[in-house]
Amino acid sequence: MPIRALPEVLINQIAAGEVVERPASVVKELVENALDAGAMRVDVELEEGGIRLIRVRDDGAGIQADELALALTRHATSKIASLDDLEGVLSLGFRGEALPSIAAVSRFALTSRTEQAEHATRVLVEDGRAQPAQPAQHPVGTTVEVRDLFYSVPARRRFLRAERTEFAHVDELLRTLALAHMRRELRLTHNGKAVRSYRAAVDMGGRQRRLADALGEAFSSQCLVVEHESAGLHLTGWIGLPTASRSQADQQYFYVNGRAVRDRVVTHAVRQAYADVLFHGRHPAFVLYLDIDPRRVDVNVHPAKHEVRFRDGRLVHDFMFRSLHEALAQTRAGASLASPLVDAAGVSVATAVAEGAGWVPAGAAQATFGAASYWRGGSPQSSLALPVREQMATYAALYGAAPAANPEASNAAVTAATSGAVPPLGFALAQLHGVYILSETADGVIVVDMHAAHERIGYERLKTAQSGEGIRVLHLLVPESIAVSAREADFVEANPPAFAELGFELQRVAPTQISLRGIPALLEGVDARQLLLDVLADLIELGSTRRVEEQRNELLSTMACHAAVRANRRLSIPEMNALLRDMEATERSGQCNHGRPTWTRLSMAELDRLFLRGR
Ligand code: ADP
Ligand code: MG
Repeated sequence: MPIRALPEVLINQIAAGEVVERPASVVKELVENALDAGAMRVDVELEEGGIRLIRVRDDGAGIQADELALALTRHATSKIASLDDLEGVLSLGFRGEALPSIAAVSRFALTSRTEQAEHATRVLVEDGRAQPAQPAQHPVGTTVEVRDLFYSVPARRRFLRAERTEFAHVDELLRTLALAHMRRELRLTHNGKAVRSYRAAVDMGGRQRRLADALGEAFSSQCLVVEHESAGLHLTGWIGLPTASRSQADQQYFYVNGRAVRDRVVTHAVRQAYADVLFHGRHPAFVLYLDIDPRRVDVNVHPAKHEVRFRDGRLVHDFMFRSLHEALAQTRAGASLASPLVDAAGVSVATAVAEGAGWVPAGAAQATFGAASYWRGGSPQSSLALPVREQMATYAALYGAAPAANPEASNAAVTAATSGAVPPLGFALAQLHGVYILSETADGVIVVDMHAAHERIGYERLKTAQSGEGIRVLHLLVPESIAVSAREADFVEANPPAFAELGFELQRVAPTQISLRGIPALLEGVDARQLLLDVLADLIELGSTRRVEEQRNELLSTMACHAAVRANRRLSIPEMNALLRDMEATERSGQCNHGRPTWTRLSMAELDRLFLRGR
């Protein structure tokens, strides 16, 4: 075939292949356009999962009548004018290809009106060709209608799924946008029924409500507020408590300058931050907003803009890791508890709002990190999540087991009463069935899993002791020879200190061979070859590694588990109180080394409710 320039319609249909995959991708482009136009309210209407109709209506600035046709041509945009603009872009769109691509694969109508215009103007696109503009009725703002998606491209249409599936994709897409653009109201209607309404949120309470609207109470009542700023990076948002981890990585939202992205570097940093508090195979939930100078991040690396490239990925990685690691260290048992309000059904409601902390829009930055506030609702295993009948049975059992008079406990209570300060985890009353500690607090009782708590305390101590010592190297009697790629061998040769720091002694002995002569002493017996290969991959890919530390921690965690008090060991009241005080002082003591909760509480208010008091 001779070479020929393709017709415009075909060019747009090809481009649509990259940008328009399904109804949700159309909704993404159209809602992002509405947000870019400054809309405060965006309505999305779907029929048949968006396959038959997608209508997006906004109250934004609108498009001038004489620019409507231009908006529908390829590479026409009002958002950038130069390379310099592109490098500092803060709008969601900038490629100028969404409208022509969508119009090329659907029956398309664009109606818009600016404030200056006397009436609205409407342009229809049929078979990829824009018809002459017509006057129309429409308030200031824009409505785009997309009917019969892919009617002209049967091959694409066959890839569409059932209505329900396509709707679910749109729903998730809108949730993702709703979590980022909290000051804008978003609504979703499906087949004539209103299905979602995200109300505009202007303060912390509103944002908290919107978070709950988007992700449910289960997340919003069991999360930490994160706020951290350093080196021009500003991170805010919410991270789920380790004890509220999920079996799927389905509640992970990450935004860079308001744009939802998936990023390998960030995913890795988050995973590492949770490594120490999460059970293997569980996934944390999070909603995190990173604000960064747009010049330090390239958003033009993916046609649908799902990915970005950080100029300094290593810095972002370390910043994210440190911020989250520190926030998670605050999960001390009993730390700054805001009492969770419990509604009539016994479900805890997160009305507790962290003072001062919380999401602050970029620019209004305050470095208030460390105030990562912590509140605790019903964790999966806690009594709050149990049906009332079960709670009653549990506590009836407790009541029976509590000693009638315990001189030491009452002493403690007297001390507390006279000093006026009850520590957060209170004073021990009794040991229950050799497994739990029952303790009286200022406003109720708590139950502690003594083995789980002791295990975490021992683990944190071992870690602290270890990090003070520095890494000792164990010299291998017989060096181990390891085959690597030439790139890896080059890296080893060029960076001896990186390995020495971790306790490895290595030498390149051939173009693709290294010789391992020493390993971190504490890790004697681990598969040193595999560990080294993992370390190498991390250092090359990410510029840093925590594998040695992770391995070491795993070992320390096992040691701590073996050393921790076993079930059925009798503890005296002073021993129990000592454990409670240790918990209050130990980082991450809200969960054991495997991510299970170490304690749970029952407030007087909850007890009163159980006994129908005060009604
Ligand atoms: P991009 O968003 O990358 O600029 P699009 O093809 O999505 O490209 O849109 C082209 C142009 O049309 C935009 O730059 C904008 O000026 C205008 N536009 C599109 N949708 C809207 C809208 N809802 N409100 C106002 N202007 C819009
Ligand atoms: Mg756009």
